[in-house]
Amino acid sequence: MIHEPTAPANLAKALNRLAKLRFGSLRARIAVLYASLFAVVLALVVTLAGSGLSRFAETSAARDLAANARVFDEILAARARQMGDQAGVLARDFGFREAVATGDAPTIASALSSLQSRVRSDAAFVLTLDGEVLAADASAAPAAADLWARLDAGETRGIIKGKDGLALAAAAPIEAPDLIGWLVIAQPLDRAELDRLVELAPIALEAQVVEASRQPGWLQAANTGDVFERQEGERLLYHVSDLTVLQEGVAPRLVLSHSLTETLAAYSGLKWLLAALAVGGIVLVLGLSWRVAHSVTQPLQQLDAATRLIGEGREVVLSITTDDEIGRLASSFNHMATAIEERERQIIHVGLHDGLTGLPNRKLFTEQLANTLARRRDGEQVMIAYVDLDDFKMVNDTLGHPAGDTLLRAVADHLREDHPDALIARLGGDEFAILVDGIAEGDSLGGIADALQRCFGRSMTINGQAATCGASIGIAMAPGDGNDGVTLMKNADLALYRAKHEGKSTYHFFEPSLDDAARRRRQLEIDLRSAIRDGEFELHFQPLYCVAERRLTGFEALIRWNHPTRGQVSPVDFIPLAEETGLIIPIGEWVIREACHHASTWPDDVSVAVNVSPKQFTATGLASTILQALAASRLPPQRLELEITESIFIADIDATLTTLHSLRNLGVRIALDDFGTGYSSLSYLRSFPFDKVKIDRSFVEDLGTNGNGHAIIRAITTLADALGMETLAEGVEEIAQFEVLEREGCRHIQGFLFSRPVPAIAVAGLLSDGAGYQRQICA
Ligand code: C2E
Ligand code: CA
Ligand code: CA
Repeated sequence: MIHEPTAPANLAKALNRLAKLRFGSLRARIAVLYASLFAVVLALVVTLAGSGLSRFAETSAARDLAANARVFDEILAARARQMGDQAGVLARDFGFREAVATGDAPTIASALSSLQSRVRSDAAFVLTLDGEVLAADASAAPAAADLWARLDAGETRGIIKGKDGLALAAAAPIEAPDLIGWLVIAQPLDRAELDRLVELAPIALEAQVVEASRQPGWLQAANTGDVFERQEGERLLYHVSDLTVLQEGVAPRLVLSHSLTETLAAYSGLKWLLAALAVGGIVLVLGLSWRVAHSVTQPLQQLDAATRLIGEGREVVLSITTDDEIGRLASSFNHMATAIEERERQIIHVGLHDGLTGLPNRKLFTEQLANTLARRRDGEQVMIAYVDLDDFKMVNDTLGHPAGDTLLRAVADHLREDHPDALIARLGGDEFAILVDGIAEGDSLGGIADALQRCFGRSMTINGQAATCGASIGIAMAPGDGNDGVTLMKNADLALYRAKHEGKSTYHFFEPSLDDAARRRRQLEIDLRSAIRDGEFELHFQPLYCVAERRLTGFEALIRWNHPTRGQVSPVDFIPLAEETGLIIPIGEWVIREACHHASTWPDDVSVAVNVSPKQFTATGLASTILQALAASRLPPQRLELEITESIFIADIDATLTTLHSLRNLGVRIALDDFGTGYSSLSYLRSFPFDKVKIDRSFVEDLGTNGNGHAIIRAITTLADALGMETLAEGVEEIAQFEVLEREGCRHIQGFLFSRPVPAIAVAGLLSDGAGYQRQICA
């Protein structure tokens, strides 16, 4: 018997532990959990079946024992009946009755012994009414008195105590015709007899007849018919019953015992089979659940692998084989993957293209350029053109950003239309780059450049108005000007720089000298930085002459750079560079401080004019620099004049006007320098109440030719007068120019005619020599 009440509890604990386990794979977890669950159920079934089997074996053994005891009883009774019949035959025999009646002992003995041998009885005797026992061997018979009690009670069969132990006896009455005695025959109830009986039993048992007086204590407690179990090294089942007795003082009990251990041992084979089946079942379930888990987790694994592939940026499509949740998951995954790919494509596109024009951006251009260069065949040339739109900033600022955007889009469209085979990119702002490959040895490079230039000359419509937009183009060729993208782009940029400086709407091919120029520029920049530190700058002053008053009313401060090796460097050469590099800010601050300082030493009616560059103008801190310079020099603000150029209006006009007003609020005067060279000078004149308008030298030069110079000067002075602004003509070199200017209403004059810019030290001399000018002019 599988007697393991703790087995299910153990299994439940194990299962609990399993559930808490964290398996690396879902598949193992599912398989083990399912198998464990099955094992628990199976263990319960096996345990129940086992104990049921044991109980069945026990109860059927008990039943068999009791049945056997009854069979035993019946057999004994049948035998006794048979013995009684045999005794009855003799007891009814006439001769025998007469022998008993007459007390003929020899006849009785002979009859008894022949009966004894016939029925194989070991004892036969006659019990006479007067208590005598007549037998061949009277010693084998019990005391007559002990038998009489039973016989008188009508019992004729039962156990008696014979010479050699217990015996089964049957008595027959001897009547002649009244009862004259009893014929009793007995057969021994010995081991052999019991063994014979035992052989008849269907189950293995042991039978024993125990005298009541000799039975052990545990047996005494048992009532007849009781079935009970005892542990005597093995499990024994006992059945006790009292046997019918024919003799007083005899109490034999039939004790049947049966080994339960043996019976259960017979069942143990069955139990082992059951256990083997259970183990087999568990293995089977483990295998099956492993497979089921595989079918569940395999799609998950595929999904996991696919997700990883997507993470690596690879394209993945899961095959949809089923119509269930897994199939739907795969389909959703595919949708997601497609969406991710699409979005990635968009992101890549956005990352490599310009949002406004849709053209490739600088990154894509450099990539493609590298590819093209790598693919380039011998004898083939590649052209890289760098394009910068002329006056785009002005369009943007005057017509607004939407107009600027329209212009850029139109330019992009024209380029795409005219050069479908070229790679066109927008590098940013108004800069474009064009890559033309596969140019053969004999092809006209100028022709290609002209075609590019023409493309920018095409007219377009902006804000409903026809417009054109020229461009400056710098061109570098591979392999001549470089073999790698970086060099080529740099050289094309240098060529563009040159093209810009040569004037609008031109192109320029790269040439090595440009590289030298760039290098010189870099050196100049380095020198410029140290120039501030080393005090290499100096201010020169050029007088401003008032025509009406016939006297010098002020000086324009003009910077000079005394370069340690190059000598004096013209501001025309270094101011633009200072502008580009931002060095103009510290330089400009120095100029303002220095100019104020000098002016403070001049007479009260002589002012100083300082040039303020656009970069300086838009930078924060200009007003405070001026305030500090005025405070430090104690120069009254109205004696300081700031000269600004029209180019400041190209930037944000509102901000420009704000700055102009804030400067004006300091009390300083503001002059519009180089008037007439800008894009729409007259409109600027109306936008702010300048104190002075400085008419550009080019108009004064024009006075010599027979053009309409006079009319222009007249127009400017008339407008300026009307707006309450003073006028000053720059670059007056000849007396004839002076006379015309005076006639056309110009109030102030500046130029070599009076004096070149002079060092500060010479200012005093010029002031004291004021009368000299007058003489010169009047002469
Ligand atoms: P600008 O403001 O137009 O200055 C006048 C320029 O014309 C000066 O050249 C002056 O020497 C020159 N000039 C004066 N009268 C005559 C004449 O009769 N004939 C000819 N041909 N030229 C004459 P300069 O000093 O070489 O300055 C050139 C430019 O450099 C200036 O033009 C100005 O834009 C810039 N500049 C000079 N000094 C400074 C400065 O301190 N700060 C800034 N931001 N710019 C400066
Ligand atoms: Ca000036
Ligand atoms: Ca000027």
